[in-house]
Amino acid sequence: MADILELAREQVLYGGRGLAEEHVLACLRLPDDRLDDLLGLAHQVRMRWCGPEVEVEGIVSVKTGGCPEDCHFCSQSGVFDSPVRSAWLDVPALVEAACATAATGATEFCIVAAVRGPDARLMRQVRDGVRAIQAAIDINVACSLGMLTAAQVAELAEIGVHRYNHNLETARSYFPSVVTTHSWQERWDTCELVRAAGMELCCGGIVGMGESDVQRAEFAVQLAALAPDEVPLNFLNPRPGTPFGERPVLAAPDALRTVAAFRLALPRTILRFAGGREITLGDLAGRGVLGGINAVIVGNYLTTLGRPADDDLAMLADLQMPIKALSRTL
Ligand code: SF4
Repeated sequence: MADILELAREQVLYGGRGLAEEHVLACLRLPDDRLDDLLGLAHQVRMRWCGPEVEVEGIVSVKTGGCPEDCHFCSQSGVFDSPVRSAWLDVPALVEAACATAATGATEFCIVAAVRGPDARLMRQVRDGVRAIQAAIDINVACSLGMLTAAQVAELAEIGVHRYNHNLETARSYFPSVVTTHSWQERWDTCELVRAAGMELCCGGIVGMGESDVQRAEFAVQLAALAPDEVPLNFLNPRPGTPFGERPVLAAPDALRTVAAFRLALPRTILRFAGGREITLGDLAGRGVLGGINAVIVGNYLTTLGRPADDDLAMLADLQMPIKALSRTL
């Protein structure tokens, strides 16, 4: 193979075409002394195909814990002996969280529920919540409510949910080692429904769950085949009481290689730092933002403490990365 970074420069930076699986793998296997070159190229790709803006999102859990699924990384599963207990948020609390998110300069506010898929009660809560947020504040509302039926997709699109998150979580070949209560294909099918309904699709996953680098490359190209508008990249934060609670934390250089390799597989997507980066990267997060990342989640994540919003906003200011403004016409 020609030098992988030269190949990537031609194909991805100049041509705008994402890397094939074998080439993503070659990036994941680059030695540490080429990491800076890899990150530098990924940053150039992001600047050329996405621009300098960073999309900021806040996230709130409308229904926490007690999920019947058995995703082995997740402390919100009711199947494991993990400390997260079931709880609901009411509509005024959702509006309050959306207003606090907007105050940080964020343009995205995502309502998340720990469920296999929404029931009538949750759909009603989300419908009321989205309407109340839209009446109170100018912010894009996204949802992450698990697997959807075609009718639920149509309803969410109709009430103005502009983006839907549903993660594939990992490579198709590794998924059965992570989840046994539903299939990778079921997740894929919901993603297809979302896109067909005209909502933006947000679909990513978690790295560092014990998958091989071959499977990490497989995952990147499977995401690219789905062509999501956004890919949230999480790093496993091993939660006590879950089957993955004792897994080692991904080493920082591997996390950074993954960020850059995913950018080279997905040159035009919004690539978001999501959960787990505090423990994986710590203060090295800025290197990810200069290595392909162009979106962050501010504030607390769903069940673990993220970084304070001010820290992230200060990091973006330090890196001279402008925060994306709302562009839709009212
Ligand atoms: S990842 Fe989602 S579907 Fe899986 S257990 Fe957690 S809340 Fe449930």
